[in-house]
Amino acid sequence: MRIVIKVGSHVLTEDGVIAKGRMMALVELIAELKSLGKEVILVSSGAVSAGHTQLSLDRSVVANKQALAAIGQPLLLKMYQEKFANFDLLCSQVLFSADVFGSEKHVARAKVAIDTLLEHGVVPIINENDTVSVEELVFGDNDRLSAHVTHYFDASMLVILSDIDAFYDKDPNQYSDAKRRAVVHTILEEELNAEHTPNNEFATGGIVTKLQAADFLMKHGREMFLASGFDLSDAKAFLLHKQHIGGTLFKS
Ligand code: ADP
Repeated sequence: MRIVIKVGSHVLTEDGVIAKGRMMALVELIAELKSLGKEVILVSSGAVSAGHTQLSLDRSVVANKQALAAIGQPLLLKMYQEKFANFDLLCSQVLFSADVFGSEKHVARAKVAIDTLLEHGVVPIINENDTVSVEELVFGDNDRLSAHVTHYFDASMLVILSDIDAFYDKDPNQYSDAKRRAVVHTILEEELNAEHTPNNEFATGGIVTKLQAADFLMKHGREMFLASGFDLSDAKAFLLHKQHIGGTLFKS
């Protein structure tokens, strides 16, 4: 079984620096999944925040974000490499331009590389090349990228580890009576086109880009699980023990 795990910048960041404890918990989960024979691809944000720890440029300027991504991407990978090494695992950096999934030829080439890495037990860590393509920097925070990665590289499921622990019938940060939706089979047109609601200065996606990712995957016969990236217990229960306690499963 092949799965894709996507972690957002809010989860990987605490007070403007990389949240090492949360990164370690994520790496540990991936190592556990791999020990069960699963193939795991990681889609990770966090390059801009990692860059900001070295050079404090104003992040509201897109050009600065591009520069910070260039500074931060190698730092982010170095941190991952050190953490994966604790489990005798190798990881690798795969950077995509936004248009890669628009070309069958490019997708086929990239898939050969991903398949080869996975065959050798290496964890591919994918991010968009934010220095040359600013789309996901401005909008999406890798939700769309990770949905494409899941479909085109033939994974059965995308797991989004977010600052929110599930999809609710309304925004739980605004309404205390919001109810969790445990399983979602279809997404309404009005939900897909709702206003974008990024929750903080680092998150650019909000729930709408997650619903769009889920819709794309369900239409292609794949599943998506949305769970908390701050506390991995729901993701662990679901992925390691097949127990659906918290989180939302999107399944057509
Ligand atoms: P991340 O950075 O972890 O990928 P975002 O902050 O971009 O996540 O998106 C999640 C946010 O979307 C939540 O914190 C929440 O405030 C908001 N949101 C709006 N509507 C909903 C909803 N119906 N269910 C869950 N979250 C929602």
